[in-house]
Amino acid sequence: MNADTSTYFRTGIRLATVPAILTGLLFAVAAIFWMEQLSHAFLGGFIAAFLVFMILYLYTRHLLQRRVEHIRSLIQRLPFRSPGADRPPPKLHSDEIEALQHDTEWSRDKIIKEFRKMDEAESYRKEFIGDISHELKTPIFSVQGYLETLLDGALEDPEVNQLFLSKAMKNVNRLIFLTNDLMEISRLETGELKPEFSVIPLNNVIHDVIDSLQYKAEQRNVRIIFEEKETNAFALADRNQIRQVLVNLIENAIKYNKPEGRVYISTRFTEQDQSKITVSIRDTGIGIEPEDIGRVTERFFRVDKSRSREQGGTGLGLSIVKHILESHKERLEIESKIGQGTVFRFNLKSADHHSDLISA
Ligand code: ADP
Repeated sequence: MNADTSTYFRTGIRLATVPAILTGLLFAVAAIFWMEQLSHAFLGGFIAAFLVFMILYLYTRHLLQRRVEHIRSLIQRLPFRSPGADRPPPKLHSDEIEALQHDTEWSRDKIIKEFRKMDEAESYRKEFIGDISHELKTPIFSVQGYLETLLDGALEDPEVNQLFLSKAMKNVNRLIFLTNDLMEISRLETGELKPEFSVIPLNNVIHDVIDSLQYKAEQRNVRIIFEEKETNAFALADRNQIRQVLVNLIENAIKYNKPEGRVYISTRFTEQDQSKITVSIRDTGIGIEPEDIGRVTERFFRVDKSRSREQGGTGLGLSIVKHILESHKERLEIESKIGQGTVFRFNLKSADHHSDLISA
């Protein structure tokens, strides 16, 4: 029985015991001098001890029990936001004050953690807003510049009017890409965009993505090669989200490639775990410095800002990929050699035994 379930007011018992024993002893010692029988003296001492015990016990119980219980229930009902708000039980044989101390210490730790999380969320929010304003500034000011120049007379100049308009349009497109990526990332980060798992024919999805990016690859003289080892690779995943992962990775493999470069895509059952399929996207491009590999999935991190912008990058692609894979309980592996190329690899749950559910 612990302090939570005790029907006795343990604090009262503890408070009353020592004074009661002392009173009983004093009474008994004093009584020995004026009582003839020793047994009467002890009986008197016992009665005195019992009376003092009961008075103190009932008084402290009346004074403290309801208040202590009220404070404990207030502490237990504190609205913590983080999960796992279950309070561990106090130690066995704790009295109510010890249990209150235990609950207070537990709540203090919890509050410190919540404050820390709030501080982190606040600095994340500030940093995010700072990053967004910085990213929006450049295209907005460019559009403003081109439009002002056109309004100031360049509109009548056939040599530059088309060029300025198309440059303004390019920046508007950048703003659109950025807004879309920002919306996507904030939905992923708030957990609003949860994966909807179904059995997907992975190779079909990859072919689909390759088709959609073929034009871009041809423009940059890059060849995409799909090494279809597992001809029947079915994965249990969110089709749209995995499509997005593939688009971002294959598009990067094209963008950061060299002319005449290659992009190799493969799917195969994971060597260590046959219940998983490993998808890898390897390019023969510029590569990433070892110290930057860990940072490329950070929001807005680019190794070469101007190259990324020139290619229409928002700096959010790999961050989106990381979030999507995390929501699939998987992670992105990156290996790279400067001047030789980069491999991006991730696993997906194989759904071979679910092939009857295929959503083509
Ligand atoms: P971006 O829109 O700039 O492409 P990403 O988040 O997709 O943003 O990528 C972040 C940065 O990682 C890129 O700016 C680039 O510097 C680097 N990067 C991504 N993919 C590759 C790749 N395949 N080869 C070399 N560098 C890459």
